[in-house]
Parts: sequence; C-alpha cells; structure tokens
Amino acid sequence: MLKSLFLFITLLIVVIGSINLFSAEKPDLELFEGKLKNMGGEWFIISDGDFFQLALAPEDFLLENNVVLTPKEPLKAEGVIVDEVISVFRIHTNDSIIELRDISGNPLWQEDKQIGHYKINPKMCIGCKLCVSVCPTDAISMVHGRAVINADKCIDCGICENGNGDYQGCPTNAIKKQE
Ligand code: SF4
Ligand code: SF4
Repeated sequence: MLKSLFLFITLLIVVIGSINLFSAEKPDLELFEGKLKNMGGEWFIISDGDFFQLALAPEDFLLENNVVLTPKEPLKAEGVIVDEVISVFRIHTNDSIIELRDISGNPLWQEDKQIGHYKINPKMCIGCKLCVSVCPTDAISMVHGRAVINADKCIDCGICENGNGDYQGCPTNAIKKQE
C-alpha cells in the first residue's frame, strides 16, 4: 500500500514538473490590430494608440506565404513585445493564419537569410542623429525625426549601439540587438 502511494506521488511530481516545463516555454501571445506604417524599410503598427516596430520575417518568406504588407490594409497579428518591438508569431489574413515562429519563438524561415538584428526603439530615440553618422553602411536614416535601421543594409557591427571609440554609443540606449 505504502509502495503504491509512493509510486503515485512520484508520478504526480513528474507530471506536474513536465506541465510546468512546457508552460514555461510557451509565451503569452497578444493580439495586435492596427494600421501599418513603413519607415526606412521597417514596418511599424499603430495599435490601440501605441506605436510599435514589428519584428517580422524576411520579405521572401512573407511573399512565399502570400503576405503582402501595405499601409492601406490593417494588420492583425499575434506576438510578444520585447523592448517595444513586437516579435510577430502569426499573421491573420482573411482566410488563414500564417505562422512566422514556432511556439518557442524560433523563426520558421532559414536562419541564414536573417540579417540585421539591431533595432531602434522609436519611443526612446531623441533624434540626435549620432548613430546615423557612425554607421559604416549608411543603414540608418531619419524618418519623422526618429532613427530607423534598414535591416537589409545592417551588418550587425554594433557600432551604433556600443560606439567605436570616438562615438560612445546611443545616448538614450534606444538601440538594442534583437536575438
Ligand atoms: S543615437 Fe540614439 S537617440 Fe540618437 S538618433 Fe540614434 S537612436 Fe536616436
Ligand atoms: S549595427 Fe552597424 S551596420 Fe547595423 S545599423 Fe548599427 S552601425 Fe549600422
């Protein structure tokens, strides 16, 4: 009797542990819906009065899945906010849901196609233009007074964020590398 009880308790602990492990990996996805805006090659969404940059997928991947972004059409997407950037997991179209990331947040496109991991938080940028002048590939431009990185030109050198000796890096820490 005692042996069965011990076995039952052990089994219960293992099951609860597995459930916790699984749920810890599962992010709470939020639904965002709003107008799109393209600034310097990057997409932003205005959702419930807030303005967020979108971390989507490479254009090729979006086109392969018949996702065409345009400021004329509102976007409905699920994702999580990381440093004021929405990491998009799913895009809702009229007749389907397109998956961009798996439930753990891993991209569903070829990783080697992903370039340009640095993003600028538009709410923290004060428009000083310091990062624009130090970028070696002219990847940063000013759009409506805020700096925006063109991911296609960015080589991930990190100078805009950390500096290069002369430049001390973004004064407001608005630039962050997205993993
Ligand atoms: S250095 Fe920072 S605050 Fe200045 S323009 Fe660039 S991102 Fe904005
Ligand atoms: S990481 Fe380097 S290449 Fe990319 S935007 Fe910053 S300075 Fe330019």
